[in-house]
Amino acid sequence: MMTFTKSAAPDPIPREGIGRAVALMQSGLLFRYGRQLPGNEEIAPAAPPDEPVSEVARLELELSRYTGHHYVIAVNSCGSALFLSLKAAGLQPGGKVFTNAFSFTAVPSSIVHAGGVPIYVECTADYVMDLDDLGTKIRAHPDAGFVIVSHMRGHLADMDTLAAICAAAGLVLIEDCAHSLGARWHTQQPPHDTLVGHHGRLACFSSQSAKLLNSGEGGFVATDDAALAAYCMLGAGCYERLYRQHLARPGEDHRIEDLKRQVPNFSLRMSNLTAAALRPQLPCLDDRIRAYDLMYRRLARVLAAADTIRLPVAHPQAVRVGDSIQFNLVHLNADQVRQFIATAAAHGVPLQIFGDGDNARDFRNWHYSFAEPPVLARTQQTIARACDLKLSLSFTASDIDLIGYLIKDALYQAEAAHTAADYPTALTDRFADVDAVVSIYDAWAASYDADHRRNGWRVLLNHLAYTATLYLSGDTPILDLGCGTGLLGRELRSFGFENLCGLDISTASLALAETAGTYRSLHRKELGQPLDFASNSFAALVASGVFTRRQVPLNALDEVLRVLRPGGLFIVVLRVEDDGFYADRITEYIAASRLSTIRKDRLEVLQSCSHELLLLRKT
Ligand SMILES: *Cc1c(COP(=O)(O)O)cnc(C)c1O
Repeated sequence: MMTFTKSAAPDPIPREGIGRAVALMQSGLLFRYGRQLPGNEEIAPAAPPDEPVSEVARLELELSRYTGHHYVIAVNSCGSALFLSLKAAGLQPGGKVFTNAFSFTAVPSSIVHAGGVPIYVECTADYVMDLDDLGTKIRAHPDAGFVIVSHMRGHLADMDTLAAICAAAGLVLIEDCAHSLGARWHTQQPPHDTLVGHHGRLACFSSQSAKLLNSGEGGFVATDDAALAAYCMLGAGCYERLYRQHLARPGEDHRIEDLKRQVPNFSLRMSNLTAAALRPQLPCLDDRIRAYDLMYRRLARVLAAADTIRLPVAHPQAVRVGDSIQFNLVHLNADQVRQFIATAAAHGVPLQIFGDGDNARDFRNWHYSFAEPPVLARTQQTIARACDLKLSLSFTASDIDLIGYLIKDALYQAEAAHTAADYPTALTDRFADVDAVVSIYDAWAASYDADHRRNGWRVLLNHLAYTATLYLSGDTPILDLGCGTGLLGRELRSFGFENLCGLDISTASLALAETAGTYRSLHRKELGQPLDFASNSFAALVASGVFTRRQVPLNALDEVLRVLRPGGLFIVVLRVEDDGFYADRITEYIAASRLSTIRKDRLEVLQSCSHELLLLRKT
């Protein structure tokens, strides 16, 4: 069995950042206020000529330009940013704050830290705040004054509706953008397309290592509100007249002077070392987002072949950054989920279930925030089977295919192991004639897919399709011999093979394959008869469950090899328990140098027999 050996390591710090960090350490000038190491670039016009300009101040200015907020205040974590936002927005001891029941523990913790009481709102199957439930909770808690919407894993709720709900109910909206830097929101009205974080009064970002920016620890408050910005600067630990060293700050110094004796210094500042690590990452953000987007879409396509995997559907106005993937396992029981996670882990793909054990994203573990566990049936149901996987810029396209293959392998195994179904006993080793084969497959078509989900056959199909990616490119013309209802085509398509032609003898099966739309063309044909394809038409032939049990005559092999290009691949699954009917003929071809063996994999999927995947090249 193949395994994945890379891990989703955080992105390294760009070389300039390392150089700048070393220079800062040599100078000892790590505190953001006071004397500063000179920079070598112009940051005018924002810098007052008589004030030192720190690494942190430069970063705040640069991030404000990126996100489009007037003011940015750097702090030591997003949790701190949320805490400060609540204090700035006027949360009083015991004040209620609506927030997502599905989020990271740092979010309710920030509410508790600020003296508030979280009121949890259900999450939808798409991992976002359930706005209907928010409405219900607003009616139940008319005294609440705040909403922290957590864009958990970058998934965005219907933000226009949420903002309207908050406005109507007089609630201050704060956005937890810890994991959604770079996510976008489209609107009909200008400006049409903005980065996330502009629906709320304040938006909070993180640069903890698992996020798009990596400084180990770090966070930001971003806002367009001068008074809130002034509070956050002071609360983060800006005292006396040090606010003059902020570049992304409100222009009117008197506002800050008026406020400064009212705001405690919570000592949440960011160090220059952190800012040095972050600044050179900003110009890379758009490239990172594009790379993650490709990676996510590739993996989602591979996984979409599995109909027990449900991928979240984004709101039509939202564009997420795909630096991680979440999906739900539908119709799996708890044992199957456990087996799936264990097998995936053994394959080197460490998935976590949000609603399992001591996961910090399971609200039932947030005891510090409630006396009685809240009843949140919908959230509980969603997170019980919600899987999470971090992606990494170090993953290549082939890594993504391998990860997708391994996830499906673990899933198909888990689905099969608990049913122990096999082939129907009606399938004898020898078929009387072609009509017998046709009638068996026609009668089987309606339940064929369900039977093959239970018996583990898809483990084999997934393996075949993934193996093809190691030798063939996506646009290769492939002929699926005995395509049936299209199960193999579905797996091939998931790995990007678009140019598929299917052939089968069963009209009922072909009708189902047609509905799925997987193949460019489908042909009702009997193997053993001449095929109406020109010689050398295909770069690959695939056949699973066809050259078994003497279902097709031996001369079929000659005819299918005619339509395969020289150098093309014949990928065929044989049944080990068969009497050598097809295997001997293939051995003869190999001896006669008509075919050469590239690879042979033994697969144990059914209870009653074993299979061998042969990858042969036409010479
Ligand atoms: C990471 C994360 C946080 C916490 O960020 P820190 O910087 O570690 O405090 C909060 N909310 C979400 C959605 C996160 O992903």
